Amino acid sequence: MKENKSRREFISQSGKMVTACALFGATGSVAYAAETAKNTCETGKTMNITAKHYYLDNVLLEAGFNVDGDVATSTRTELKTLEIQDGKIVALRDNKSHADSALPHYDAGGKLMLPAMRDMHIHLDKTFYGGPWRSLNRPAGTTIQDMIRLEQKLLPELQPYTQERAEKLIDLIQSKGSTIARSHCNIEPTSGLKNLENLQAVLARRKPGFDCEIVAFPQHGLLLSKCEPLMREAMQAGAHYVGGLDPTNVDGAMEKSLDTMFQIALDYDKGVDIHLHETSPAGVAAVNYMVETVEKTPALKGKLTISHGFALATLNEQQVDALATRMAAQQITVASTVPIGTLHMPLKQLRDKGVFVMTGTDSVIDHWSPYGLGDMLEKANLYAQLYIRPNEQTLSRALGIATGNVLPLNDKGERVWPKAQDAASFVLVDASCSAEAVARISPRTATFHNGNLVWGTVS
Ligand SMILES: [Zn+2]
Repeated sequence: MKENKSRREFISQSGKMVTACALFGATGSVAYAAETAKNTCETGKTMNITAKHYYLDNVLLEAGFNVDGDVATSTRTELKTLEIQDGKIVALRDNKSHADSALPHYDAGGKLMLPAMRDMHIHLDKTFYGGPWRSLNRPAGTTIQDMIRLEQKLLPELQPYTQERAEKLIDLIQSKGSTIARSHCNIEPTSGLKNLENLQAVLARRKPGFDCEIVAFPQHGLLLSKCEPLMREAMQAGAHYVGGLDPTNVDGAMEKSLDTMFQIALDYDKGVDIHLHETSPAGVAAVNYMVETVEKTPALKGKLTISHGFALATLNEQQVDALATRMAAQQITVASTVPIGTLHMPLKQLRDKGVFVMTGTDSVIDHWSPYGLGDMLEKANLYAQLYIRPNEQTLSRALGIATGNVLPLNDKGERVWPKAQDAASFVLVDASCSAEAVARISPRTATFHNGNLVWGTVS
């Protein structure tokens, strides 16, 4: 009851609502209160910083590792003042030193600054999030064809809410520190280009606080739903990537489906990001075919992302090594939600071989999955639990999966971020260092994008 009373008191001072969130998050001692406060945070007002040139004091930055032999045993930090101007960090200064006393200054309260997080696989255009709770029954044996039939009925029901819910999802992921994202967007005969138009309208409104690429996603099969002309219209309308989907299980013609996908990308000079859920042997064949296609087509080098790629979990260590070497040479990216089921993706092996692995939310409460917290730090924590022997060094490195491999310290413990002229896109976290943030999924208190405070508060 004490917590409830406290919460009411906080809420009664609506201007301080977000401070309450930070405080509850920071104490984290009462699950109910923290959960309630979190929900308030996600919908609560964020403090406004209108200045384009200002100081941010009391920012905790990582400064180096303390080591025992080769292994970091703890992380050194220091409090600094950042000078932020026109969306960039223009200088790191001694704490509370204000060369120009006329500029406004804010106080980060000693919170740890980490690079902005990146949710690189999300579906902002279809979710139940932001509406009433809903979970769908998908009994064992439900096929992707069943799901396509379900979508044909469900999508028109969701469409009136697309913009409102996309905005709420963006609020959610910003509250977790993500300001950079890649969203898949349904392109199929049921939705036409409506989801794309709705998503583009939302992203235009949110541009100052959120950068998001769009993948035109032929969810009902590129060939099966005969949506190549729609996909080409989506490219002309400004989608950034050509999507794809299980070329054997859905389209029933692996080579033709993949060739069509790549041809659209080449014609419009776009990248490709394909949903590949298929497992052995069709999935392995598809991965091989795509790697071969990129090897033969220099214009596709660095332009292919394989999302999920569950087939990689069916290969043995030598096969993964061989394929990963070729993928790294072609700068092929893997986007993974870090699945925790029976499939154990070789994510560490891929990264060790130089494949860029990024993570994302995928579903946040939708008809595919009732889960999804929109939290990339949670993904880094999952990655750490599944793939590393935890110590200060390895935990701090695991953060990279959440941040596009931007890390405050390099492997030797030298500060490589932030540097002058870096974008002022970062998250303030109630933690003493990256390793703790990953291990504890520490509460976030404020999120900045290009110098704009987009969620939370500083004082
Ligand atoms: Zn997806």
